[in-house]
Order: sequence, then structure tokens, then C-alpha cells
Amino acid sequence: MRAEYPKIERASADRSASAGAEASDVNYPQLDPGDIATLFDRARLRMARELRGLTQVQLAKEAGSVTAASVSQFENGHSKPAASTLQRLALALRVPPSFFAAPARPPAQDEVNGFFRSLRSTAPRDRQQALAYVHLARELTLEFEKHVALPELNLPRVRIEEGQPLQAADIEQAAARVREHWNVPPGPVQNVVRLLERNGIVVVRFRVSIEKVDAFCVDFPDRPVVALGADKGLRDRSRFDAAHELGHLVLHGSGERAGTRIIESQAHEFAAAFLMPVGDIKDELPDHLDWPAFLRLKAKWHVSLAALLVRAKTLGVMSEHTYAQGWKALSVRGWRRVEPGPLGNPEAPVLLQRALDLMEKTGTSFAEFIGHSGLPEADIRTLLSRDVSERPRVEF
Ligand SMILES: [Zn+2]
Repeated sequence: MRAEYPKIERASADRSASAGAEASDVNYPQLDPGDIATLFDRARLRMARELRGLTQVQLAKEAGSVTAASVSQFENGHSKPAASTLQRLALALRVPPSFFAAPARPPAQDEVNGFFRSLRSTAPRDRQQALAYVHLARELTLEFEKHVALPELNLPRVRIEEGQPLQAADIEQAAARVREHWNVPPGPVQNVVRLLERNGIVVVRFRVSIEKVDAFCVDFPDRPVVALGADKGLRDRSRFDAAHELGHLVLHGSGERAGTRIIESQAHEFAAAFLMPVGDIKDELPDHLDWPAFLRLKAKWHVSLAALLVRAKTLGVMSEHTYAQGWKALSVRGWRRVEPGPLGNPEAPVLLQRALDLMEKTGTSFAEFIGHSGLPEADIRTLLSRDVSERPRVEF
């Protein structure tokens, strides 16, 4: 009986995801346009606009018969759009009108911002778009939770008093504590993304449109979301990124100090300690530039040569001088861009996909789900479809 529910939904997901947002024949919930206007939630308008990477002026132009000033007023809560205006905004933003109705759950506060690494290299609009996408991932997760039980959030936090500098030893200890809390056996972490997901953290991977955005995370109180970049395609880097974002969640939460050099290096130190615990790796690290040995360690620990080199220095195995020579060698050989000993595809998130599978098996089809949730279908398909880096991409 359950098996009758169409697998087509998922089979076609990949295709429609790469084709971009497309209209579908899914029936959206029969909320009266007047009801939607009454339930209008200004944060959702902003989220949809940012999801499309539009300015208020651009949205006004696309929607027609709406001024940028009106859009601004809708978003800051000074006025509400009429039902007919909402319809036009929905069309322009490619979301069902019911998307604008306040969902029956705590809203994601405007103040929940993300930790972005390369602040300067990311244009504000790309950043907003990436953030909106991550807000959507949280929404999707909360909607799934109405149908299936997902792993509960199990994230130990280390909170540092304001003004108290975090010592290197504190970070090592925090990383060890998280491993212990999650029952990670000594040695290499088998799959970082899976580990995060198993402990209730949502992981998504970005695709083409916002690939300029590096990995980042948003510490939603109910479901923290880690977003990984789509463009790197490197298992070691991607694992380090995931561990770095975990470091932000554990050490920093949704603080306002995001993006500073200190915060970033702390997250880096955490990632190194989490992936390469001192007690497990110290004796394996060479004290000189034994590249074959480093390559073997790379294959064993699934971390980059660069990360191993830094770790060897941090743990005092390698002298500053040898480290500096090693780093220079990495640059000269072009290994900072492309390292030898590739480890294969990056780890792929599976939690949301499995939630969908389970939901379908227990009798709710994807189409019904989309209809009830009021979420934009094409974007949800993008979020759910398989990791883009699992398939080779045609380059022009
Ligand atoms: Zn960071």
C-alpha cells in the first residue's frame, strides 16, 4: 500500500533542481487569499525576497503595481499588503501565497544570523540569499517533524564568559568533550556530516547559484543548520569545513562576534582538535617533511596535507622552521590549490532525504506535504535532492 506512493517525486527532484524553479501542478492549501493577507508575516516576505536575491526595488518592478516603498513598509511591518498584491508578490517570488501566512510555530527571529568565514569575499546579497536558504532548510525540517521523528538535538556547548580569552587548551578540551559526548571512538572520524546529522544538526550543501558562499552555520535554537559549499568537491576540505562550523556552534553559538579573525581561528583549532585528537595522532605525525608519511596520514585521517602540517606544528611535533618550509613547499608545488592523494567525493547529507523517504513510506506523499506546508516546491526539491558533487558536473 505504502509502496504505491510515487517515487517519481524524488526521481525527478534532481532534474527539476538543476533546471531551477519551475511551476508545478501541486495544489497549494486552500487558504483564502483574504486569510493569507490577514495572517501575513513580514519576515516571510523578506525571506522569500532574499531567497531570490532581489532588492526591494527589483521586487517591486517584478511584481508590478507595487512600489519599492510599499515593499519596504510590508517588510518593516508598517503596513500589510492587500490580497491581490500578495498574489503578485507570490508570483514574482515563485512561492505559494500561503508561504506568507505566519506558520504555527515560533518564527525564526530576524536576529538569527550566520557565521560566515570569508566576510569580505561574500557580497551582502549572496550572504542574505544563503541565509534565507538556510532559514528555509530549518522550516523544512520543522515541517518534516510534524510527520516523522528526527534525531533530537544533542549538542554540548562550551560557553565562554565575555572578555575571557579562550585558550588553546580549552578548545582541545571542548573538542574532546564533544567526541566523548557523541561516543566517537578514538582515531579518525568516519563521517563528520553523518555525525552532525545523527545528533540533530541539519546539514545542507549549496548548489550553483550561491556557490560563492563558503561554509557557514546558523544556530537556530531548535535546529542548528550547517551549510556547506558546493564548489570545493574535496572530501578533506569539506570535512574540515563541517568540523569548523561545529566549532562555532559549540564554542560561539549565535553570538554577535561572528567573522572576526579570533573567532575564525578558534573554529579552525576546534576542527583540527576534533578531527585529529592530540592523544590519537601526535605519535603518528612526522617531525620532518616526510611527504609519503603525510600522504598516508591523509588517507587514514581524511584530512588535508595542509591540516596535518598545521597540526604537527600546533602539537609541537614539528619545529616552526620545518613547518614554514613545508608550507612553502605546499605553495610552490601548487598543493595549496590541488593536493595529491584526493580522497573522493565530499560527505553527503542524508537526514532530510531520509526524512522524506520515511514520510512517504508512512503515507504522506511529497505533493501532499508541499501542499500543506506552503513551502516553495522547487527550492525544497533543491534542498532534498542528492549532493551535487556526487555527480560529475558538465563544465563549459
Ligand atoms: Zn567560521
